[in-house]
Amino acid sequence: MLENNLSKLAKWLRFLGHDVKVLEREINPRDLSKNQDRVFITTSKRWEHTLKKAGIRYLVVPRHDWELQLCMVIRHFNLRTELILDRCAYCGAKLSPVEKEKVRERVPPRAYDTAYDFMLCPECGALFWKGTHYEGMVRMLEKVLGRC
Ligand SMILES: [Zn+2]
Repeated sequence: MLENNLSKLAKWLRFLGHDVKVLEREINPRDLSKNQDRVFITTSKRWEHTLKKAGIRYLVVPRHDWELQLCMVIRHFNLRTELILDRCAYCGAKLSPVEKEKVRERVPPRAYDTAYDFMLCPECGALFWKGTHYEGMVRMLEKVLGRC
């Protein structure tokens, strides 16, 4: 369960295949009682005491540096660091494979020829594929892991 200012972190945790929910607002006590079994990630020290008292697993991360946030979360919870790419980066739903030909009109012509592994989000309709940007993501993840 991530605070609403952690959307970039959420996106990357989803790339790694994790079931991440983002709060629509700041943490409040109702969110805590409804999600006892989830891990809370927050940038706000003032929730630390409450989370600890409620026995909820949590991590406080720095406010603005998403790379450092990701690195800390991976190390703290000992998460796998493989780019699974089976979840929607925007809403977290599990993606379904889709045939390349069926989504042709949604892919920029320059990317279409080299792109592969097309996946569609059944919840929000977002389309994902692997292509030249995938190598960039792999390198970015390596850089992030070197940060902490
Ligand atoms: Zn989605």
